[in-house]
Amino acid sequence: MSKSEVPGPGAPEAREAAPEAREAAREAAAPEAAALAYPCGEPPAPGAPKEIAPGVLWLRMPLPFALNHINLYLLDDEVDGRAGWAVVDTGTQTPDVLAAWRTLLAPGAGSPLAGRPITRVFATHMHPDHMGMAGWLTRKYDARLWMTREEYLMCRTLVADTGREAPDDAIDFYRRCGWPEEALDVYRARFGGFGKYVHALPDSFRRIVDGERLAIGGNEWRVVVGRGHSPEHASLVCEHLGIMISGDQVLPRISSNVSVFPTEPDADPLGEWLASIADLRARLPAELLVLPAHGEPFRGLHARLDRLAAGHARSLARLKRSLAAEPKRVIDIFGTLFARPIDTRSEQLGLATGEGVAHLNHLVQRGEVVAEAAADGALRYRLADADAAAAAAAAEAVAAPE
Ligand SMILES: [Zn+2]
Repeated sequence: MSKSEVPGPGAPEAREAAPEAREAAREAAAPEAAALAYPCGEPPAPGAPKEIAPGVLWLRMPLPFALNHINLYLLDDEVDGRAGWAVVDTGTQTPDVLAAWRTLLAPGAGSPLAGRPITRVFATHMHPDHMGMAGWLTRKYDARLWMTREEYLMCRTLVADTGREAPDDAIDFYRRCGWPEEALDVYRARFGGFGKYVHALPDSFRRIVDGERLAIGGNEWRVVVGRGHSPEHASLVCEHLGIMISGDQVLPRISSNVSVFPTEPDADPLGEWLASIADLRARLPAELLVLPAHGEPFRGLHARLDRLAAGHARSLARLKRSLAAEPKRVIDIFGTLFARPIDTRSEQLGLATGEGVAHLNHLVQRGEVVAEAAADGALRYRLADADAAAAAAAAEAVAAPE
């Protein structure tokens, strides 16, 4: 989801624009891209679900962001003797998504979903493109929301920010990153945007946990939790069908946003993200058909995970070489991390800042970088020891001719 707002506790839907575009451009030319296969053909037209495995439907909804679509999946299900569809992720609360759901769910055997009801709603994670219509669907069908506890609670927290003023903690966070005053003003004006795209949440939910096995229709699906993009992201894996519904945990063409937000300024989501990549690779077979929330279903899970890990390793190495030259603020490292320039007046600033802090915090966690306050209020990041700085600078000199 690439969004139109500066992220923060109030608008974390704005998470994936700049980094995704950067990765997409970089990966288009990469030989590893050839390791992925896309066996499901063209995406389904809006309102026309496509069956891609027995009892598994692929559905697309529009998004009002630079990343213009989300994939949802429907699973043939039966709950309490009522046959229908379990839906995995729901789309944003926007008029066109609401209209699409109404068309899909029209009564009668001739309607796109054969007039069958929604039996339950699964949400892979809390972001508005995944959670936006969960409250609408669960109320319409008296269905239960199934998701992990951290995602449910975090979503309720962020929705509650809508209507509040931007907190001082958030302003301080971005000031420490080096944001100019005009950017802080824009942040204040946009704060609280998260709730705009989320229908009133269900007031209760059914918790799912890592490793749990769920009976959905005639199949057993395993919950596989990953972290870093969101706190407790759930993928669903059915070994019998050979399918993984991966949400935003594994995407084929773009790298998921991994960001630090002002509510937890010292967090190390990149460390969690890299640990999750290793964990998924160890736990899941390479030949699964992966059904992602963005892009097309693909095969090549292990190759994709390897590529994502290698991309972050390269970014961290470039960042260290850059810090060896001189200490830098967060806003000074964008040129090192992103191919595209980041205008401090644009909506990309928040996305780039969150990713930048994530990379810096990871190096701080590893003891390789230290952050020091300067008189202007912005933190300066430098390599932790002089020998490492010299080595990184030498590597930079070698790398420079590229
Ligand atoms: Zn997401």
